Amino acid sequence: MEKKSAKAKILELFQANANKWIPINDIQKVAQISEWARTIRFLKAEGWKIEKKGGGKTTEYCLTSLEKKEGVVRGPINPRTRAGILRRDGYRCVHCGKNPEEDNIKLEVDHIIPVAWGGKTEPKNLQSLCRKCNQGKKSYFSDFNDDDAVKDIIKAPSGTEKLLLIGAKLIDRPLTVDFIGTLAGIRDWTRTIRSLRQKGRINYKWDSKTNTYTFLEVKKKEKERQ
Ligand SMILES: [Zn+2]
Repeated sequence: MEKKSAKAKILELFQANANKWIPINDIQKVAQISEWARTIRFLKAEGWKIEKKGGGKTTEYCLTSLEKKEGVVRGPINPRTRAGILRRDGYRCVHCGKNPEEDNIKLEVDHIIPVAWGGKTEPKNLQSLCRKCNQGKKSYFSDFNDDDAVKDIIKAPSGTEKLLLIGAKLIDRPLTVDFIGTLAGIRDWTRTIRSLRQKGRINYKWDSKTNTYTFLEVKKKEKERQ
C-alpha cells in the first residue's frame, strides 16, 4: 500500500469536503499525528484557503476553495543566498553575537518574519542566528502562527500603527522584545512606544527579568486632520 504523508491525507480530507466545516477530531484521526496544526499552517502557507472557527476541542476547519493560490512557501534558501546572508552578518549570530570559530556554535539562516506569517525568502527578511537563538525564537514565535492578530499587525502600513495594533490586539500578554521588534519592523520601536506613552496613547509595563513588555491600555486615536 502506498504510504501517504500526513499532509497529503489532511489535504485529501479537505478536498473531499470542500466548503464544509470539518471538526478537528476528524482531522486528527486522519493525520494520526500531533503535528496536525503545523500541517494546516503549512497547507495555508502553500496557498490553500483554509478557514478556522471555534476553539479548543470544538475547533473546525474548512477548505473554502479547491483552487490553490500562489503560496509563500518556496524551496529551501539556496546555498548562494545563504552564504551571502552569513557574509553580510559577519558570520555571527545577530542576536547573541557568537560565531562558529570562537564559540563552537552552528549558524543558521532564519526568516525574520516567519514564512507562516507571510515572510518571504529575500535578503531583507533573512538573518544569521545560532541554532540556540533560532530554536528559542521558533518555539516562541510558533505560538502566534495561528493568531489572526499577527497577520493584521503585519499588514499595518507603519511601525507606529503596528505597535498600536500589537498593544490593542495582544493586550495583557507578556511579549518579548524580539517578538515586538520583529512585528513592528522598525529599529527604534522602544523610542516610539515611549513617545506614544508620553502622548497618552498607550500604557505598558516592562519586566527586565523576562525582557518582556506587557501592553495594558491602548486609546483610540482622536480624529486627526491633515
Ligand atoms: Zn545566538
